[in-house]
Amino acid sequence: MQNIDFAELKSALDYAANNSSFYKKLYAEQNVNVDTVKTIEDFQSLPFSDKYDLRNAYPLGLQAVPDEKVVRIHSSSGTTGNPVIIPYTANDVDAWATMFARCYETAGITNLDRIQITPGYGLWTAGIGFQAGCEKLGAMAIPVGPGNTEKQLQLMQDLGSTVLCATSSYALLLSEEINKRGIRDKIKLKKGVIGSERWGDLMRARIAEDLGIELFDIYGLTEIYGPGIAIDCECHDGMHYWDDYFYFEIIDPATGKVLPDGEVGELVITTLKKEAAPLIRYRTHDLTRIIPGKCPCGSSYPRIDRIIGRTDDMIKVKGVNIFPGQIEDIIKSVPGLSSEYQIVIAHTDGKDTMTMRVEVEPGADKDTVAAGVITTFKAKIGIKIDCEALDIGGLPRSEKKSKRVFDYRED
Ligand code: ZN
Repeated sequence: MQNIDFAELKSALDYAANNSSFYKKLYAEQNVNVDTVKTIEDFQSLPFSDKYDLRNAYPLGLQAVPDEKVVRIHSSSGTTGNPVIIPYTANDVDAWATMFARCYETAGITNLDRIQITPGYGLWTAGIGFQAGCEKLGAMAIPVGPGNTEKQLQLMQDLGSTVLCATSSYALLLSEEINKRGIRDKIKLKKGVIGSERWGDLMRARIAEDLGIELFDIYGLTEIYGPGIAIDCECHDGMHYWDDYFYFEIIDPATGKVLPDGEVGELVITTLKKEAAPLIRYRTHDLTRIIPGKCPCGSSYPRIDRIIGRTDDMIKVKGVNIFPGQIEDIIKSVPGLSSEYQIVIAHTDGKDTMTMRVEVEPGADKDTVAAGVITTFKAKIGIKIDCEALDIGGLPRSEKKSKRVFDYRED
């Protein structure tokens, strides 16, 4: 568990309860008296807040400071319903830039670097966060924004950009374009700071290899400043997060119970210094774990693992929560498998059964591979499953996202 100065956490809670109309209402509705919160266990029994609730505060119900203190708003894209509008004070904007500069430093980026920024600018938090951190660090920002590959590549060569900030898909597109044009020897990129999407090891390896650069995952969400609240270090074993700005908890998404370090669950964030829109126990719906122990890099900032998925993708079998990212890890760690799989869950004779259907590469022995899957599953996730090994092509391919989980328990 993150070391936390309880007094600091309590003052963040008091601040939100006294100044945010959103929390005033939430705590009144739920009969919460924050004066009775005296221990970390008390804190862990406070109600969560969720994006769905934040939407109801549209447009400015989250604002916890007078109007003259607000210098900017950002907004998360709402595919359904109202967007969430997050106001910022000058201190909030500065805190975000400070954290982002720290991200660059953690990735070994200095004020001699030239940072080409391709995420978008505007209502959402991406581009401007990358830029503010860069300026805080004292490096040169090249704020190209998204798209316009022609201009990106021209500036990259002419200015000698050393750092690329991008989504994984755009980094991949640029790396392919660079190789197609045979201009890699004109490119001076050394590092990539890649944010905003979940991406696989294969894609990571391809971008790193094609561009000959070191990649760093950066994490963040609009509700909590934006990108820049956690990043890889040179060890690439999880992302350091800034515990002087946040309190992180990992909960069981089904029960809401706080989980011990090392266990995978949903990340819940409390902001410690946010003025204009403080958040207490905010459910991110992102699945990760707190990595126990100190990082070999020597940083004292704690770490979370890479985001392995969203809570909406979670399945519960035999009382154990299972996430798609864990299944993909198993697929990768058993030799002789393709990347395709299906999960079939049923309920027979009073208990859950789970069968994993996989494809075995030519030349590999199906029984051996199936036994490997069963053993690895038991070792990593802790439950006994069955495995059905098929030939390559035995599972359907789809242009769209394939349906992989078939749960027949409700029928
Ligand atoms: Zn580290």
